[in-house]
Amino acid sequence: MHQGVKCSICGEKAVAIIRYARLRLCKRHFLEFVERKVERAIRRYGLVGRGDRVVVAVSGGKDSSTLASILAKLSGKLGYKLYLLYIDLGIPVYSKANREKVVELSKTIGKPLIVVDVKEVLGLTVPELAFKVRRPVCSVCGVVKRYIMNAVAVELKASALAMGHNLDDLVAYVLKEFFNQNLEQISKLGPRTGSVEGLAVGRIRPLYEVYERESLLYVLLSRTPFLPDECPHVRRGTMEFKIKELLDSLEESFPGIKFGLMRRLAKNLESYPKPSQKLSRCKACGLIASGELCSFCKITKQALGEPMGARVREYIRRKILELGLD
Ligand code: AMP
Ligand code: ZN
Ligand code: ZN
Repeated sequence: MHQGVKCSICGEKAVAIIRYARLRLCKRHFLEFVERKVERAIRRYGLVGRGDRVVVAVSGGKDSSTLASILAKLSGKLGYKLYLLYIDLGIPVYSKANREKVVELSKTIGKPLIVVDVKEVLGLTVPELAFKVRRPVCSVCGVVKRYIMNAVAVELKASALAMGHNLDDLVAYVLKEFFNQNLEQISKLGPRTGSVEGLAVGRIRPLYEVYERESLLYVLLSRTPFLPDECPHVRRGTMEFKIKELLDSLEESFPGIKFGLMRRLAKNLESYPKPSQKLSRCKACGLIASGELCSFCKITKQALGEPMGARVREYIRRKILELGLD
């Protein structure tokens, strides 16, 4: 930042230049800018309402830490209850370090935290589980995370599950699905997805209009606890990664282009085809499935000889009781 660049609002020293909004902001006005953006997205897209119970899935990374911190700030004004969820996947070093950050985050923002430890409940970590079923770690990890997030939200009778996806992530997913012409998948990439009574809690993405660099600057300037490390299983050079690079260069030439796409997408979502999959109830655990068993019960049955969904739900209920959450 050049010496002497001043905040467009108050004239103090600017710490951020927001090109697409033609703003230069000082620390205080930058933090307010991001918080307002989240609040406006919540109102614009009707993400949460008074009396709601919201579970925010926190990974320890910058995005979900930004999200949890802002959702905690807005909870009084907007009248909802907030719970944090961390899933300890048992990835050596990485999972423990993130867990510590999330414990610190929960204390800093003053909201209760539920930790689900995969090794504790299954007897296997996610990498061990993936090895047993001979599938890539990231695909098994996705199944385990989605299952536990939904199960916790269901057991807490939450109205919404908040995820930390930022604007850059979402634009890249949309473009990737567009290249594959998976238009039904695009219909799931809006600011919210619907709940299915008793089976699945809808997801909300309050960082829908927040750029990745804004969320990074937010945690840094607000001193919100987070871990900058990336998961050791992340692969560079994938299609998604290349798409992100491409989009960054477009954004450089046309500031605001990502934001514009997502705004227009949110308006047009209704006209995208919906997934035609028939939904049912998992025979083993009672949560959402697309066949007899949900993906989590299938994988755990294959690895351990029995489906583990019901046991995970029991473990979560016990945790909720122990923590005295209502
Ligand atoms: P990812 O799938 O890793 O890109 O993460 C997407 C979102 O999932 C994050 O923004 C968090 O909201 C949530 N998430 C990812 N990992 C975890 C975790 N270990 N525990 C709880 N939530 C997580
Ligand atoms: Zn200012
Ligand atoms: Zn199941």
